[in-house]
Amino acid sequence: MAANIQTTRSYLLDKEQIPLTVEEQISDAERQQLTDKIKQLLKQQNAVIVAHYYTDADIQILADETGGYVSDSLDMARFGNESDAETLIVCGVKFMGETAKILNPEKRVLMPDLDANCSLDIGCPEKDFVEFCDAHPDHEVVVYANTSAAVKARADWMVTSGSAVDVVKHLASEGKKIIWAPDQYLGQYVQAQTGADMLIWQGACIVHEEFKAKELEIMRAQYPDAKVLVHPESPAAVVAQADLVGSTTAIINAVKTLDAKTFIVATDKGIFHKMKQAAPDKEIIEAPTAGKGATCISCAHCPWMAMNSLRKLLQVLESGSNEITVEDSTIKRARGAIQRLLDFTSEQSATMLANDA
Ligand code: SF4
Repeated sequence: MAANIQTTRSYLLDKEQIPLTVEEQISDAERQQLTDKIKQLLKQQNAVIVAHYYTDADIQILADETGGYVSDSLDMARFGNESDAETLIVCGVKFMGETAKILNPEKRVLMPDLDANCSLDIGCPEKDFVEFCDAHPDHEVVVYANTSAAVKARADWMVTSGSAVDVVKHLASEGKKIIWAPDQYLGQYVQAQTGADMLIWQGACIVHEEFKAKELEIMRAQYPDAKVLVHPESPAAVVAQADLVGSTTAIINAVKTLDAKTFIVATDKGIFHKMKQAAPDKEIIEAPTAGKGATCISCAHCPWMAMNSLRKLLQVLESGSNEITVEDSTIKRARGAIQRLLDFTSEQSATMLANDA
């Protein structure tokens, strides 16, 4: 098995680069007013809300009620592609808006807050990344979805947490060496699963990095029958305790299908809305973020995802502001990396269906 070599300097964010999580406080009456007005404008403008599982429950409910969509980042982009709407209101973080634009250049893509970013995207600046890739020309460049359009444009493949292991396994079987960016924990997980020869960028998600292994052990002892569901952006010692390691979609499916009454979940707690919808009779507990080394910057909720709010959503619909733009040449190159993944996953599904037949 190839060694897991640390190849870049640390790209972890300083505390000052991370905004405080501010959740919108609104009365029931204001919520009603806002949602009525938003529904009306969505219809008038032939627009839909495409939201991530980590956004506020109010936004997820509104997306579901108005023919929009709530999912993980890849499915959000896919939905945008299939929808007849002329405008996509992407409720999530910047790279999701950019991916929607790359796959739907003819559509108008708006976001409630253009400052909604991601520590992985910020921690992988284009200039450093291009220099790193250029210094290792014999490597296939695989980037996680949580990167800017410019970084995707330099990549051979874009992958998601649900597809990363399969793609890297496939590349390793062809004898390819891999540059992986930007999440170090997901990279280590993929390397351990595939044995691939990987150069791993040293970025991290500030939410998942906060989950604490020691405190999780204590919690598991308190809930011995609980199943532990972990997103692979979490540190290896947390991943090692999981009954299931998977993407947000896999975690939601697991709460329905796994035989347990209680689940300890290590991912952003925004996902609890869909998990409770999927399995209302099950108990869902946040994995611990407190304990030794805790900074409690995120407390299991992404501060950038929390920037999406009903008030801002109404504002962009009224003003048409916060439009996502990506240069044509970047769209062309980044689309190649995304399309490679879409083709790979549809080939895989076709093979699975043929094997099942
Ligand atoms: S939860 Fe982590 S990976 Fe997701 S947008 Fe926030 S910082 Fe980025």
